[in-house]
Formats: sequence, C-alpha cells, structure tokens
Amino acid sequence: MIVGIDLGGMSAKARLFGEKQSSPKNVELSPLGEEVCAKTHARDSIDTTIETLSELAKEAVRRAGKRFEDVEAVGVGAPGIVDGARGVVLSWSNFGWKNVPLGEKLSEKLKKPVFVLNDANAAALGEAKFGAGRDFSDSVLITLGTGVGGGIVLDGKLFEGYKGAGGEIGHTVIRMGGRKCACGRRGCLETYVSTKALIKDTVAAAKRDRKSALYALLEEGRKADGFLLFEGLKRGDECAKQVFDRYIAALGEGILNLANLIRPQAVLIGGGISAQGETLLAPLRKYVGERLPAKGFAPLEILSATLGNAAGIYGAAYFALERTVL
Ligand SMILES: [Zn+2]
Repeated sequence: MIVGIDLGGMSAKARLFGEKQSSPKNVELSPLGEEVCAKTHARDSIDTTIETLSELAKEAVRRAGKRFEDVEAVGVGAPGIVDGARGVVLSWSNFGWKNVPLGEKLSEKLKKPVFVLNDANAAALGEAKFGAGRDFSDSVLITLGTGVGGGIVLDGKLFEGYKGAGGEIGHTVIRMGGRKCACGRRGCLETYVSTKALIKDTVAAAKRDRKSALYALLEEGRKADGFLLFEGLKRGDECAKQVFDRYIAALGEGILNLANLIRPQAVLIGGGISAQGETLLAPLRKYVGERLPAKGFAPLEILSATLGNAAGIYGAAYFALERTVL
C-alpha cells in the first residue's frame, strides 16, 4: 500500500492506495478509504508542516481501516522547485522554504521511504495514469489557474528535464516582447491564459465597451471572476466573444508550440476553467486543428482533465509506487 500526499499553501490532502497486479509487468493503484485533509499555514515552522503531513498520512491509513506498518512508501507532491532525486524542496517562496529535505525529514518520522516531486508534475502523472490521459502513453497536462502549470508524461514516464527544472509550459513565449511575466521574460503563455489574465482582460474589455453585456453584468454587481466571461458569452455578447476568441488563440498557440515540439497524443486541460467543457474545448480543437502540421498522420486529442484537485494525490502515490514496487 502507498500513501499519496498533496501539499499546498492552504491545505494538505492525503489518501491511501492499494496495489493490484493487472499483468506481469503492470501494477495498478486503486484508492482505499477516503481523502483526508489538514490545514497548512505559511507561518508554521518547517517541522510543524512536516508533523502535519506525518499525522495526515497516518490518518489516511486509519480511515481506510488499515495498519500503517503495512504501508510500503509515501509519495508527496510539493509546491515550488523540487529536486526529486534527493527529495529536497529547493525553493517554495510562499512558505519561505529554501533547501528543505522534505523527503528525508518525513521519512525519519514515518519510518517509511518517502518520494517527493513537484505538485504540477504530480497532477500530470495522476491524470496520465488514472484520469483523462489513461488511454495514452504520451500526454501533457496544462492547468489553468492563478498561474499556468502542468507537466509532461512521455512513454508513460514523467518528463521533468534536467534536475526537474523542465516542463515549464506556462513560460513558453507566445508573443515576443509581449506582457511582462513574473519569470522575468515577456510574452509567456501564463500572462495570457491564467485565470488572473482572463479576469483582467474581461474587466478591461467591459470597461472599454459600456454597451456590452459584460459591462451590464459588472454594473449589476456581478463578481469579476473566471465565470464572468462565460456568462457574457451566454448572453451572446460581442465584447465577450472578442475576449474569448483572443483567449482561445493564445491557448491554442501555446498548445501548438507543445505539439510541434513533442507531439503528445493528448493535451489535457485542467484548472477551474476546464469546467466549461466543450464551450472551451470545441473552439480550441478547431483553432489547433487548422494549424497543426501532419494532423491526419499524428492526431492530437484535446480533453478536459477528469480528476480535478485529486490528480496530485494520485500522481504522488504513483511516483512512489514506481520507485518502490515497479
Ligand atoms: Zn514567464
């Protein structure tokens, strides 16, 4: 049995998984018990946060009615820059972590092997193995949130680049000299397709066009969030349509860059916006399909991620499974 943990800035989640030998070469994981959750705080010391994770792992096993002695390994998806080979969080700015040996410290507490990977990569691995990517050997997850994260799975394995520093899809440039990005460059995909960018663009467009339905919605006191644009679209608003078309084009260009470079079989879209389903996916497929070379020969699926917030736990558990049992 393996415990998967997803460490975040507000909370940590964990779940126990059991292994099932599906073929001589293939072991599958199935969730046991239920997901458990604990709050995390930036003000907590490193040791306090690690104690929280330790208790959470044990709680997940208890909830499944199993004994912790029988757990083989623990996988943790952690934010920030992670050296997966050593289990060290090199830098997590929200919590002020620098060179924290998370794997080693948690392993000392739990007396079990602990494997650590970046949380976005954990989600990509989870979706690839258990979610929307399970029928494909090569998939890329793009998570559209406050930022743009994601991860690459090639030939069934996570591709992290040298020392895990690769796979930064959000920082591929789609417009040279474009919007300023937190990474120091300009025109990164993240600055056009993050939820933050979408909301900013929607509000700016509404304020430029005071006859628009978007503007009327804001005047009615509608909150400026990621759903505002889609409400405008439902009302047939031309202003909303223009913002949406630009959003699809930006996301489409990012996907085309990926497709031209590594040509996965599937691109999986995660994050809050993916709840829009076909409203988002149909025009995105059209945009990409019209510009994708060799699409008849090597087609590209664009799908919604299916595991939601649980993807990271699944991926962390699978990462630990690969390193112990497989
Ligand atoms: Zn950037």
